[in-house]
Amino acid sequence: MSQALTDAARLAHDWLDGLTERPVQARASLEDLRARFAGPLPEVPSAPEDVISTLDRDMRDGLLGSAGGRFFAWVIGGGLESALAADWLVSTWDQNAALYACGPAVSVVEEVAGEWLKDLFDLPREASFGFTTGCQLAHMTSLAAARHAVLKRQGWDVESDGLHGAPRLRVIVNDQKHGSIQQAVNYLGLGQRSLVPVETRGDGRIPADSFAQVLSETDDATIVVLNAADLNIGACDDFETLIPIAKDAGAWVHVDGAFGLFARASAKHRHLVRGLEHADSWATDGHKWLNVPFDCGIAIIRDRVAHKAAMTITAPYIAARRAARDQIDWNPEWSRRARGVPVYAALRELGRSGVQDLVDRCCDHCAAIVAGIGALPNVETVSEPMLNQGLLRFTQVGNAPEENDEYTDRVISEINDTGEAFFSGTTWQGRRAMRVSVVNWRTTEDDVRRAIAAAADILSHHRELI
Ligand SMILES: *Cc1c(COP(=O)(O)O)cnc(C)c1O
Repeated sequence: MSQALTDAARLAHDWLDGLTERPVQARASLEDLRARFAGPLPEVPSAPEDVISTLDRDMRDGLLGSAGGRFFAWVIGGGLESALAADWLVSTWDQNAALYACGPAVSVVEEVAGEWLKDLFDLPREASFGFTTGCQLAHMTSLAAARHAVLKRQGWDVESDGLHGAPRLRVIVNDQKHGSIQQAVNYLGLGQRSLVPVETRGDGRIPADSFAQVLSETDDATIVVLNAADLNIGACDDFETLIPIAKDAGAWVHVDGAFGLFARASAKHRHLVRGLEHADSWATDGHKWLNVPFDCGIAIIRDRVAHKAAMTITAPYIAARRAARDQIDWNPEWSRRARGVPVYAALRELGRSGVQDLVDRCCDHCAAIVAGIGALPNVETVSEPMLNQGLLRFTQVGNAPEENDEYTDRVISEINDTGEAFFSGTTWQGRRAMRVSVVNWRTTEDDVRRAIAAAADILSHHRELI
């Protein structure tokens, strides 16, 4: 076997084994990293094993330990062992997962993974799906299908005629929407001014009265985007109430469930997303709560005709196999990696009960961190976790709110500097807060304890200074 490949497997093991002890925060500075990697394009070849060993040496302290169990920033999952190993094999097999003809086995595995996900989330079994690079492109795919359907109802064929002269189309959104919705709207040529945000009054949920009001304002073609867990507090819209109102108004309802869709897999948390199955499309991520390596989002779309119309293309050299599923009909990409395979592996490794355990365990860990740090002096619990996201704020007696904003950011950065845990900040309701987000299968009770201890140390040090 090639030395480079053998070395890479060993280095990967080293990295994973080191996650519990290494600092979570990257230590190398921007200048260090530039100095190490920059330089002219090499004029001559190098041995593959030398490329790999140098890369490993130069990367290590510039890597974030987000694959490990003490990383609670943003929403970034780890890699389940089977999913990571399957991802290695996907690179090794190097199939072009555009067509069945280019990789028969990966096409079928992706087809089965899609069916399993609909089952896991209890979404309509007749829905179609596409595996994209992430939730961003899952939004774009879903909203492209939505654009097709709502304009078709107005007698407009957007794939043929584009948007010049098309009927007006608006996109009603929760004001706590993720930025990827704005991006998807840009990709689709709808423009930011097509967005109509509905104010959420602090609980992160669209109020039914203002929703009905906004819907009734015009007869324009309408797409609604609802949240299944926003990134700050994990708030889920009231699907049971809002979806029927939207349907009555003839709107297409899309759900941003980047991580929140996984609440469907938990008996304990499913009530948060009740009624979501009545939507028209759903976008989620494999690389967050399912813990497959990066490069995996999933679009699930009830109207498979609209989905295919928005994504498919025919070309004379495409050998379409009618019986098989050609991924290219359902995805925005042409050539692509077989990103359904790690999903298949993860679902096989976990099974339905394992996904539920993973979701519930992450929620419990999040609650424990928020309770543990929240019980320390001068810590305000801004939002108790409903799911796997909580918010904390650090305060000092006598500080003005702006000073506590700065103080909160300072505490976050000092906790991160310890290397014991890593958190990120956010602005929520105009004030800075620390997000506690738990989605990694590797997080243990010991990791929770270490994270709380790191915060306690920083805060007690500050009290001594006063
Ligand atoms: C992460 C996230 C997205 C974007 O997903 P990507 O996989 O990064 O493209 C969208 N919505 C929410 C709520 C998210 O947390």
